[in-house]
Amino acid sequence: MATPREHAVVTASGFERWSNCTAAPRYEELFPDGETSVYAAEGTLAHAVCELYGRKKFTPMSTRKFNSELKKLKSHALWQDEMSKTAEFYVNFLVEKANEYEAIPHVAFEVRVDLSEYIPEGFGTCDCIMIGGDTLRITDYKHGKGVPVSSINNGQMRAYALGALKMFYPIYGDSIKRVCTAIVQPRITEDVVEEWLSVDELKEWGANVLRPKAQAAYFGVGTFCAGEWCRFCKGKAECRARAEYYAGFSQYVNADIEGRMTAADLERADQLSSMDVAKPPVLSDAEIGELLAKAEGLAAWYADLQEYARDAILTGREIPGWKVVEGKRIRAFTDADAAMEKMRSEGYDDAILYDRKPKTLAQLEKLTGKKRFTELMGDLITWPPGKPTLVSATDARDPYSPVGPREFAGVGDV
Ligand code: SF4
Repeated sequence: MATPREHAVVTASGFERWSNCTAAPRYEELFPDGETSVYAAEGTLAHAVCELYGRKKFTPMSTRKFNSELKKLKSHALWQDEMSKTAEFYVNFLVEKANEYEAIPHVAFEVRVDLSEYIPEGFGTCDCIMIGGDTLRITDYKHGKGVPVSSINNGQMRAYALGALKMFYPIYGDSIKRVCTAIVQPRITEDVVEEWLSVDELKEWGANVLRPKAQAAYFGVGTFCAGEWCRFCKGKAECRARAEYYAGFSQYVNADIEGRMTAADLERADQLSSMDVAKPPVLSDAEIGELLAKAEGLAAWYADLQEYARDAILTGREIPGWKVVEGKRIRAFTDADAAMEKMRSEGYDDAILYDRKPKTLAQLEKLTGKKRFTELMGDLITWPPGKPTLVSATDARDPYSPVGPREFAGVGDV
């Protein structure tokens, strides 16, 4: 089973949060640990399955032992058959990477690494460490299918790599020159993006970015800074800094308009007592860019406030101006089969009673397997262009082009 993870004040997994909001770790100590979500429990089980498949592939393990361990995992209430498939995908990826080494690398799973050289009292658990020749590989498995996590600029992965370098230094010394980190998230994509860094680059990042941020966070001298990283903060609903961030749009109301109104406009505004010159009527494109970035998390923040207030009222507290009521009731059959039977007896046949819908492309692919599906359907699949979608400039995708690469496909072959 996966090694249990203990609690640390500044955790590598929270890097995105505390590297942006260095006040977060000490602030979060004000709040009790939340209950483990079913998704987290599912993730822990999926990690245990990956670990088992990995050990079977890379370490001596009898089939009998493997089957008995797998049987135990399958008896878990959250078991899904998909977990075997995702574990196989993870292990196949590792095999492919192991084959890139000139000699068989050392492969270890669920390895606890010491991060205290950079993060006070810090430690982490690497899903897989592969080391040999001049290369260290850190691979993380993620079972979630909601938010894709990139290994590029990923502080958690880099911190794990620093911990693994330290751990294996007595054996490999200075022979390790390159580090590769990768995140396998097969329920979202089969493409695995890798980040390659030299050991010197990684250590420089550790000394200049990781260590100072972690120390500020640990010693309680951090600064509050709200942003999208608040979503996993234990005190996200009650946080004043976050409230000010989302509620404090006054800078846009009271913005200095000098430079955006002509002298004549200002003179006219001066004459109109009803017009407050400190409230420009039109936002600049730069302000819209800033507001878009802020407003991205607005809905999530509001949902957090709602959840907090609802729970508070249900436990007997008062949130002035708010109450909890019963939501809209939606009728439901107590027995859907019996209901359909009655409709049939009224003379309605199944063609009217049921909608017949084909399964989606992804569902059909799941039935046949990817390889067979490509053989069968390759000539029936097209990729219509996606709709223009607004994203942050930091998004890794190429900017939208009305005439995309697919429209040019084959032009050069004429
Ligand atoms: S909610 Fe956001 S701003 Fe507030 S402490 Fe947490 S991470 Fe920092």
